[in-house]
Amino acid sequence: MAATMETSVKFDADLVRRYDRPGPRYTSYPTAVQFHDSFREAEYRAAAAATNGATPPAPLSLYVHVPFCASPCFYCGCNKVITRNREQAENYLVRLYREIEMQAELFAKDRTVDQLHFGGGTPTFLNPWQLEDLLKKLGWHFQLRADDTREFSIEIDPRTCDLDTVDLLARAGLNRMSLGIQDFDPEVQQAVNRIQSAEQTFAIMERARRAGYKSVSVDLIYGLPKQDRVRFAKTLDMAIGERPDRFAVYSYAHLPHMFKPQKRIKSEDIPSGAEKLALLELTIEKLTGAGYVYIGMDHFALPTDELAIALREGSLHRNFQGYSTHADCDLVALGVSSIGKLGDSYAQNYKTLHDYYQAIDSGHLAVHRGLALNDDDRLRRAVIQDIMCRARVEYARIEQAWPVRFEDYFAREIASLAPLVADGLVVMLERGFELTPIGRLLMRNVAMCFDYYLAAHQQAPQPRFSRAV
Ligand code: SF4
Repeated sequence: MAATMETSVKFDADLVRRYDRPGPRYTSYPTAVQFHDSFREAEYRAAAAATNGATPPAPLSLYVHVPFCASPCFYCGCNKVITRNREQAENYLVRLYREIEMQAELFAKDRTVDQLHFGGGTPTFLNPWQLEDLLKKLGWHFQLRADDTREFSIEIDPRTCDLDTVDLLARAGLNRMSLGIQDFDPEVQQAVNRIQSAEQTFAIMERARRAGYKSVSVDLIYGLPKQDRVRFAKTLDMAIGERPDRFAVYSYAHLPHMFKPQKRIKSEDIPSGAEKLALLELTIEKLTGAGYVYIGMDHFALPTDELAIALREGSLHRNFQGYSTHADCDLVALGVSSIGKLGDSYAQNYKTLHDYYQAIDSGHLAVHRGLALNDDDRLRRAVIQDIMCRARVEYARIEQAWPVRFEDYFAREIASLAPLVADGLVVMLERGFELTPIGRLLMRNVAMCFDYYLAAHQQAPQPRFSRAV
């Protein structure tokens, strides 16, 4: 019988403070830091061919990256190009269409695309006709699933999307959207250079519902300059009042040495560590109090949402876009800097437009680095998936798929859980362990115990990962 998944979450200021250390978010294992440039086009083509030979081949998931934004949000750590020149979009689409053709040739024609995501940057930097055209092109080259089980989503910036575009995208087949909000407070918006009214945001949400989108998600950020509990409580109340299906509430990571726009944030405006913890506590209180389920790693969903159902049933999955219910897809990444996953390998496209255009213009795929997982990587990936998505690791379940005795293979890792057990993050079972409600909030600290590569990262002079809170 399947074990009941732990779905509650608990805040403990002292433990959250003590465990607030840099660490990966485990949207993949190994993380992108391990990618190397001996994995290129030839390796990618071989990996694609191998996935066609699987019995049966997995469905496909497409990720399409649109890197442009009209203005910089100062907190942003994404790979993007700031421009108001719309011609850039035209130039980009020429290359993207060529890449779509080249990538589609690699996969068996009968493989359906069950999942599609437009991310950025700002996908709605493209005008509605460009987006419609892009969807048509994808449909010509890939077999896009037509029924209701498809999960086709787009990140919407309400400042660059009108209501007719919402309808047009629904007619073109999209059925999920996530809306960037971050904070509605005018002073916070000023401090991060992102002015966006609640009215325009809520009008899009309402239109999405009428147009039949199955899931609407909103993104907030805590720890932004000028934020405090009173202001953020107002933002949370306003957003909760609109009853989105999902919330993603991220912690602002101030890493100006890595992300240049963050240099424009005054450090004296950033909430203190104690205030930031209080903002996290407030977020958990408000969202769980309003009936949202904590999915893990900043994500909350209504109990009726597919993610919450998958969490309860133990079928949740984690990938580069966060949490997903589609566990079995091969992820084909399109566009500059995008990251894909084919079978047991990861691949990333060139990060600059110049390099991306050069590769495509010379008739090549734009893959410039990646990783083929070894057996140890694959085994650890399975354990880390269980920690991040099931909050529980059962040794027998892992042993069913791997020729190891868990206690022997992971003796060092199990020993490293001892302080987390003593602190109440983890409870040991007869042959396994599970995360407690406070352990779920700090799940990446548990996953870090099973990360082979982490010790090397931690010796880096500057933090390469954001902190947990
Ligand atoms: S937060 Fe989004 S819209 Fe703002 S700069 Fe970053 S990618 Fe662009």
